[in-house]
Amino acid sequence: MKLLFLGSPGVGKGTYAQVLTEVLRIPQISTGDLLREEVKKETTLGKNINEIMIRGELVPDDIMIKLIKNRMSQKDCQNGFILDGFPRTLNQAEGLKDIVKIDHVLNFKANDEVIIERLSGRITCKKCSTIYHKTGNKPKKEGVCDKCGGELFERDDDKLASVKNRLDIYKKKTKPLIDYYTKEGLLVEITINKPISEIREKVITKINDYLCGKTKKIGEIN
Ligand code: ADP
Ligand code: ZN
Repeated sequence: MKLLFLGSPGVGKGTYAQVLTEVLRIPQISTGDLLREEVKKETTLGKNINEIMIRGELVPDDIMIKLIKNRMSQKDCQNGFILDGFPRTLNQAEGLKDIVKIDHVLNFKANDEVIIERLSGRITCKKCSTIYHKTGNKPKKEGVCDKCGGELFERDDDKLASVKNRLDIYKKKTKPLIDYYTKEGLLVEITINKPISEIREKVITKINDYLCGKTKKIGEIN
Protein backbone atom coordinates (compact mmCIF):
# COMPACT_ATOMS: atom_id res chain seq x y z
CA MET A 1 0.00 0.00 0.00
CA LYS A 2 1.51 3.28 -1.14
CA LEU A 3 0.24 6.12 1.02
CA LEU A 4 0.85 9.82 1.09
CA PHE A 5 0.08 12.00 4.13
CA LEU A 6 -0.71 15.67 3.55
CA GLY A 7 -1.41 18.36 6.09
CA SER A 8 -0.12 21.47 7.74
CA PRO A 9 2.99 21.26 9.94
CA GLY A 10 1.94 20.23 13.44
CA VAL A 11 -1.31 18.58 12.45
CA GLY A 12 -0.07 15.25 13.78
CA LYS A 13 0.52 13.42 10.52
CA GLY A 14 4.05 12.43 11.51
CA THR A 15 2.79 10.95 14.78
CA TYR A 16 0.06 8.97 13.02
CA ALA A 17 2.49 7.83 10.35
CA GLN A 18 4.77 6.48 13.09
CA VAL A 19 1.95 4.39 14.56
CA LEU A 20 0.55 3.21 11.21
CA THR A 21 3.93 2.12 9.99
CA GLU A 22 3.80 -0.59 12.71
CA VAL A 23 0.16 -1.53 12.09
CA LEU A 24 0.55 -1.81 8.31
CA ARG A 25 4.15 -3.07 8.32
CA ILE A 26 5.35 -0.59 5.75
CA PRO A 27 8.09 2.00 6.31
CA GLN A 28 7.45 5.65 7.02
CA ILE A 29 9.42 7.97 4.81
CA SER A 30 9.72 11.32 6.52
CA THR A 31 11.59 13.82 4.37
CA GLY A 32 12.17 15.95 7.48
CA ASP A 33 13.98 13.00 9.11
CA LEU A 34 15.95 12.26 5.92
CA LEU A 35 17.06 15.90 5.79
CA ARG A 36 18.01 15.96 9.47
CA GLU A 37 20.17 12.88 8.86
CA GLU A 38 21.93 14.74 6.04
CA VAL A 39 22.47 17.71 8.37
CA LYS A 40 24.04 15.42 11.02
CA LYS A 41 26.65 14.30 8.48
CA GLU A 42 27.86 17.92 8.30
CA THR A 43 28.44 17.78 4.55
CA THR A 44 28.30 21.00 2.51
CA LEU A 45 24.83 19.99 1.40
CA GLY A 46 23.90 19.29 5.02
CA LYS A 47 25.01 22.74 6.13
CA ASN A 48 23.00 24.48 3.41
CA ILE A 49 19.94 22.41 4.25
CA ASN A 50 20.27 23.24 7.94
CA GLU A 51 20.09 26.99 7.27
CA ILE A 52 16.99 26.56 5.13
CA MET A 53 15.29 24.37 7.73
CA ILE A 54 16.02 26.71 10.65
CA ARG A 55 14.32 29.53 8.75
CA GLY A 56 11.34 27.25 8.17
CA GLU A 57 11.73 27.52 4.38
CA LEU A 58 11.60 24.77 1.78
CA VAL A 59 14.61 22.84 0.51
CA PRO A 60 14.82 23.17 -3.34
CA ASP A 61 12.66 20.76 -5.36
CA ASP A 62 15.51 19.16 -7.32
CA ILE A 63 17.32 18.17 -4.12
CA MET A 64 14.10 16.77 -2.65
CA ILE A 65 13.18 14.76 -5.74
CA LYS A 66 16.65 13.21 -5.87
CA LEU A 67 16.45 12.33 -2.18
CA ILE A 68 13.05 10.63 -2.59
CA LYS A 69 14.05 8.77 -5.74
CA ASN A 70 17.02 7.36 -3.90
CA ARG A 71 14.93 6.36 -0.85
CA MET A 72 12.20 4.75 -3.02
CA SER A 73 14.73 2.55 -4.76
CA GLN A 74 15.60 0.81 -1.48
CA LYS A 75 14.26 -2.69 -0.89
CA ASP A 76 11.99 -1.97 2.08
CA CYS A 77 9.81 0.27 -0.10
CA GLN A 78 8.78 -2.47 -2.51
CA ASN A 79 5.55 -3.42 -0.71
CA GLY A 80 4.56 0.13 0.06
CA PHE A 81 5.32 3.04 2.35
CA ILE A 82 3.89 6.09 4.05
CA LEU A 83 5.25 9.29 2.58
CA ASP A 84 5.25 11.98 5.25
CA GLY A 85 6.37 15.49 4.29
CA PHE A 86 6.69 14.99 0.55
CA PRO A 87 5.55 16.38 -1.84
CA ARG A 88 5.30 19.93 -0.55
CA THR A 89 5.04 21.76 -3.90
CA LEU A 90 3.28 21.07 -7.20
CA ASN A 91 6.67 20.58 -8.79
CA GLN A 92 7.52 17.84 -6.29
CA ALA A 93 4.13 16.20 -6.92
CA GLU A 94 4.87 16.06 -10.65
CA GLY A 95 8.30 14.62 -9.86
CA LEU A 96 6.74 11.94 -7.66
CA LYS A 97 4.29 10.96 -10.38
CA ASP A 98 7.23 9.99 -12.57
CA ILE A 99 8.69 7.80 -9.83
CA VAL A 100 5.74 5.85 -8.37
CA LYS A 101 1.94 5.46 -8.36
CA ILE A 102 0.31 6.42 -5.05
CA ASP A 103 -2.83 4.53 -3.84
CA HIS A 104 -4.32 6.98 -1.31
CA VAL A 105 -3.62 10.56 -0.21
CA LEU A 106 -4.77 11.29 3.35
CA ASN A 107 -5.25 14.97 4.08
CA PHE A 108 -5.06 15.73 7.82
CA LYS A 109 -6.79 18.88 9.05
CA ALA A 110 -6.99 20.83 12.33
CA ASN A 111 -7.42 24.53 13.11
CA ASP A 112 -4.49 26.99 13.48
CA GLU A 113 -4.83 27.25 17.27
CA VAL A 114 -4.52 23.51 17.73
CA ILE A 115 -1.55 23.51 15.35
CA ILE A 116 0.42 26.34 16.97
CA GLU A 117 -0.23 24.88 20.41
CA ARG A 118 0.99 21.49 19.26
CA LEU A 119 4.07 22.69 17.39
CA SER A 120 5.31 24.92 20.15
CA GLY A 121 5.24 22.08 22.66
CA ARG A 122 6.68 19.34 20.47
CA ILE A 123 9.69 17.33 21.62
CA THR A 124 11.49 14.75 19.51
CA CYS A 125 13.82 11.84 20.29
CA LYS A 126 17.42 12.49 19.21
CA LYS A 127 18.01 8.83 18.42
CA CYS A 128 14.82 7.40 16.88
CA SER A 129 12.80 10.57 16.02
CA THR A 130 9.70 9.52 17.96
CA ILE A 131 7.52 12.56 18.58
CA TYR A 132 6.14 13.56 22.01
CA HIS A 133 4.45 16.65 23.38
CA LYS A 134 5.23 18.64 26.53
CA THR A 135 1.63 18.69 27.70
CA GLY A 136 -0.32 16.21 25.57
CA ASN A 137 1.47 13.09 24.50
CA LYS A 138 4.09 13.01 27.28
CA PRO A 139 6.82 10.39 27.65
CA LYS A 140 6.63 8.20 30.78
CA LYS A 141 9.83 9.75 32.13
CA GLU A 142 10.52 13.44 31.48
CA GLY A 143 13.12 14.06 28.78
CA VAL A 144 13.58 10.37 27.94
CA CYS A 145 12.21 8.40 24.97
CA ASP A 146 9.83 5.54 25.94
CA LYS A 147 10.98 3.45 23.00
CA CYS A 148 14.76 3.69 22.99
CA GLY A 149 15.81 5.67 26.06
CA GLY A 150 17.16 8.45 23.82
CA GLU A 151 17.28 12.10 24.87
CA LEU A 152 14.29 14.30 23.92
CA PHE A 153 14.84 17.81 22.54
CA GLU A 154 12.94 20.73 21.02
CA ARG A 155 13.77 21.23 17.34
CA ASP A 156 15.21 24.66 16.38
CA ASP A 157 12.49 25.09 13.79
CA ASP A 158 9.76 24.46 16.38
CA LYS A 159 10.46 27.89 17.94
CA LEU A 160 7.60 30.34 17.39
CA ALA A 161 9.01 32.55 14.58
CA SER A 162 9.79 29.69 12.25
CA VAL A 163 6.54 27.95 13.15
CA LYS A 164 4.65 30.98 11.75
CA ASN A 165 6.86 30.97 8.65
CA ARG A 166 6.26 27.25 8.10
CA LEU A 167 2.49 27.76 8.34
CA ASP A 168 2.60 30.61 5.78
CA ILE A 169 4.69 28.55 3.38
CA TYR A 170 2.34 25.61 3.83
CA LYS A 171 -0.63 27.78 2.86
CA LYS A 172 1.11 29.20 -0.23
CA LYS A 173 3.01 26.21 -1.58
CA THR A 174 1.59 22.98 -0.18
CA LYS A 175 -2.13 23.63 0.13
CA PRO A 176 -2.59 23.63 -3.69
CA LEU A 177 -1.74 19.92 -3.52
CA ILE A 178 -5.18 19.29 -2.01
CA ASP A 179 -6.79 20.35 -5.30
CA TYR A 180 -4.17 18.49 -7.27
CA TYR A 181 -4.87 15.16 -5.56
CA THR A 182 -8.63 15.75 -5.51
CA LYS A 183 -8.46 15.99 -9.29
CA GLU A 184 -6.39 12.81 -9.38
CA GLY A 185 -9.21 11.14 -7.41
CA LEU A 186 -6.94 10.13 -4.56
CA LEU A 187 -7.82 12.50 -1.73
CA VAL A 188 -9.31 11.41 1.61
CA GLU A 189 -10.13 14.06 4.24
CA ILE A 190 -9.47 13.59 7.96
CA THR A 191 -10.36 16.38 10.38
CA ILE A 192 -8.95 15.95 13.85
CA ASN A 193 -10.83 18.03 16.41
CA LYS A 194 -9.17 16.87 19.63
CA PRO A 195 -5.64 16.47 20.99
CA ILE A 196 -3.84 13.38 19.77
CA SER A 197 -3.60 11.88 23.26
CA GLU A 198 -7.43 11.72 23.45
CA ILE A 199 -8.29 10.29 20.06
CA ARG A 200 -5.22 8.49 18.87
CA GLU A 201 -6.82 5.01 18.87
CA LYS A 202 -9.95 6.29 17.13
CA VAL A 203 -7.90 7.88 14.36
CA ILE A 204 -5.89 4.71 13.79
CA THR A 205 -9.03 2.55 13.68
CA LYS A 206 -10.78 4.88 11.25
CA ILE A 207 -7.80 5.03 8.92
CA ASN A 208 -7.42 1.27 9.07
CA ASP A 209 -11.13 0.71 8.28
CA TYR A 210 -10.83 3.03 5.33
CA LEU A 211 -7.74 1.33 3.95
CA CYS A 212 -9.34 -2.12 4.34
CA GLY A 213 -12.34 -0.90 2.35
CA LYS A 214 -14.75 -1.16 5.32
CA THR A 215 -15.74 2.52 5.00
CA LYS A 216 -15.81 4.88 2.04
CA LYS A 217 -14.70 8.05 3.86
CA ILE A 218 -13.13 9.24 7.10
CA GLY A 219 -14.29 12.82 7.73
CA GLU A 220 -14.35 14.42 11.21
CA ILE A 221 -12.98 12.66 14.27
CA ASN A 222 -14.07 14.00 17.67
P1 ADP B 1 6.86 19.50 9.74
O1 ADP B 1 6.02 18.49 9.02
O2 ADP B 1 6.47 19.66 11.14
O3 ADP B 1 6.99 20.80 9.02
P2 ADP B 1 9.23 18.13 8.78
O4 ADP B 1 10.12 17.34 9.66
O5 ADP B 1 8.37 17.42 7.82
O6 ADP B 1 8.35 18.99 9.80
O7 ADP B 1 10.07 19.21 7.94
C1 ADP B 1 11.00 20.06 8.54
C2 ADP B 1 11.64 20.97 7.50
O8 ADP B 1 12.33 20.18 6.53
C3 ADP B 1 10.68 21.83 6.68
O9 ADP B 1 10.33 23.00 7.36
C4 ADP B 1 11.53 22.09 5.42
O10 ADP B 1 12.50 23.08 5.66
C5 ADP B 1 12.25 20.76 5.23
N1 ADP B 1 11.49 19.85 4.35
C6 ADP B 1 10.92 18.66 4.68
N2 ADP B 1 10.31 18.08 3.63
C7 ADP B 1 10.47 18.92 2.59
C8 ADP B 1 10.07 18.91 1.22
N3 ADP B 1 9.33 17.91 0.72
N4 ADP B 1 10.43 19.96 0.44
C9 ADP B 1 11.15 20.97 0.93
N5 ADP B 1 11.57 21.06 2.19
C10 ADP B 1 11.25 20.05 3.03
ZN1 ZN C 1 13.79 7.18 20.85
